[in-house]
Amino acid sequence: MSALDRYRELVAKVDVFFGRVEQRHGDQLLCGSGCFDCCLVRLSVTPVEAIVIADALAPLPATTRAHLAERARRDDPERCAALGDDGRCAIYAGRPLVCRSHGVPIRQRDARAEVVIDTCFRNFAERGAGAADPDCVLDQTTLSLTLLAIDSAHAAETGGAAGRRIAIADLLR
Ligand code: SF4
Repeated sequence: MSALDRYRELVAKVDVFFGRVEQRHGDQLLCGSGCFDCCLVRLSVTPVEAIVIADALAPLPATTRAHLAERARRDDPERCAALGDDGRCAIYAGRPLVCRSHGVPIRQRDARAEVVIDTCFRNFAERGAGAADPDCVLDQTTLSLTLLAIDSAHAAETGGAAGRRIAIADLLR
């Protein structure tokens, strides 16, 4: 299986995972469509993610792509270049892995290297993200290492360098 196919498979798994969290804990997920708190950043992605983003961009109307390109050229450091004026992601179908886990409980290490379960401040406000079912907690380390392995495989396939990052803004220009 190619690295790109492995990436698409990983994306499908994360999307299924997200659906499970929504099904089990939907009442605790208060961030949702139209909320863009997580999008007030500049992101970079791996080359395989860039391919999937390009696939999502291709069918957009020329006027939309031109608008996104113009926004990307402005290079706003406080807003993702793919965030539309309507507060929605213009490349939603191809958004990178990190964006697919926005809002779910995530197991990660804090600044003191202690394992914590965290999520968006809007979600699980009453009981905390640690109250989520164990199979509704995304392990950040596992996800990052899996993406890293896919990126290395893609670099080996294409003769490129592993670890290369591409700014989303550069993909939209
Ligand atoms: S790619 Fe889309 S979901 Fe991700 S930060 Fe940018 S606008 Fe938000």
